[in-house]
Amino acid sequence: MSRTIIVSNRLPTKVQRTEDVLTFQSSEGGLATGLGSIYRQEGNVWVGWPGLFVEDTAEEEYVREQLRQDSMVPVFLTEAEIHDFYEGFSNSTLWPTFHYFPQYATYEPAHWAAYVAVNEKFCQAVLAQAGPDDTIWVHDYQLLLLPEMLRKARPEATIGFFLHIPFPSYELIRVLPWAKELMAGVLGADLIGFHTFGFMRHFLSAVSHLLGFTAQNGRLEAGDRSILVDTFPMGIDYDRYVEAAASDTAREHEATYRQVLGNTRAILSIDRLDYSKGIAQRLRAFELLLLRYPEWREQVSLIMVVVPSRDQVAQYAALKEEIDELVGRINSAYRTMRWTPIHYFYRSFPLDELASLYRLAEVALVTPMRDGMNLVAKEFVASKADHRGVLILSERAGAARELSDALIINPTDMHQLTEAMHDALVMPEPEQIRRMTAMQKLVGQYNVFAWTKLFMDRLAFSKHRQHTLD
Ligand code: UDP
Repeated sequence: MSRTIIVSNRLPTKVQRTEDVLTFQSSEGGLATGLGSIYRQEGNVWVGWPGLFVEDTAEEEYVREQLRQDSMVPVFLTEAEIHDFYEGFSNSTLWPTFHYFPQYATYEPAHWAAYVAVNEKFCQAVLAQAGPDDTIWVHDYQLLLLPEMLRKARPEATIGFFLHIPFPSYELIRVLPWAKELMAGVLGADLIGFHTFGFMRHFLSAVSHLLGFTAQNGRLEAGDRSILVDTFPMGIDYDRYVEAAASDTAREHEATYRQVLGNTRAILSIDRLDYSKGIAQRLRAFELLLLRYPEWREQVSLIMVVVPSRDQVAQYAALKEEIDELVGRINSAYRTMRWTPIHYFYRSFPLDELASLYRLAEVALVTPMRDGMNLVAKEFVASKADHRGVLILSERAGAARELSDALIINPTDMHQLTEAMHDALVMPEPEQIRRMTAMQKLVGQYNVFAWTKLFMDRLAFSKHRQHTLD
């Protein structure tokens, strides 16, 4: 029987050491939920890093055995590998380049060497699981070389690759000293998926410039192989957000926040700490709103959640300082005894508390400079049971391609952003309901399960087509 193997940098379970005891915590993330239906099926597995440095082989065996019971196979990485492969090449070279921040990118040959070595390590771990004609679905920018490595060892396997972040213009890709190798690495797949048509177009352009292969109708002819390239905008587990927002816990939390806020209206912003998210620009736009429209003072507050992330990388620490300073400055300039302009949380919230914030907010500000998709935008939409509320969405988030009923803005245009906030706050209810209902229909239909199925069906088709062409 042919099996399916999912591969991603992180496993959907995080193993942690607390006072010498290992704990196993399942991820609540969208990808884990969406792929749960696949990797938990008899015989299938998910291969990835468990998020822990093991101390000895006995511990390694223990972790391996525990994870095996839940269909997972760990790839153990050393601290040096995490430093050079993950924080180094993945997050300090590829991430800034793919998000149009080349000024933040480093080009360290040692990081590249670690990236190759860790992709090889993943390859060996997958090969230990995979039979000759199994289906392997590789995820994201940490594993761009893996499809080609797998192809060499398993020429008959069905290999899919999905990129969860943007794919930028060739002009950014060409700056990478290892651009050709990276593109050739991805081309080991039979099906290559992106969130948007724009990302796919940039990818095809880079492949054509760097490797000379051209595509027609989503089919890339690469030597003796034919590869499908397509778009699959990722969705969320819609019903889960609908339920979470309707839960008693979410209602109770909302009531507590409402008590504190009184009649003040709430604009919500939720992101991981990242320069791609446009957090500082958003704060400046909110400050301009208070300056330009004094009538909103004491009437509206910004609730801003920033989830700590990658604080080992220098730019992230600098961004954190910038945000702290901006929040402090704006709050001290405008606050009154009964009103705080910005309620700022630098930590992460569990799903039901997030749901209460989605319920509470009349406006969600999702204004990244660049974002592969942005799931927060979709989660806000799913949580609005009364169909009211306004989403302000950056044109440079993948989600903007689908959510055309949001107020779409250019996040670098501070004036436009300020005006959008004002427009959202005065938008008549019938218009809010019309826009929100249209978005809910779409987000509900193209949920994460539909996304998984579309990709898997297309992957099966890609192989079937190759066989019939042979
Ligand atoms: N999230 C969370 N707790 C928080 C803030 C965010 O669990 O306190 C989740 C949020 O619900 C969403 C994810 O983190 O599912 C962020 O995904 P998104 O695509 O918006 O951005 P990414 O962080 O992947 O760049």
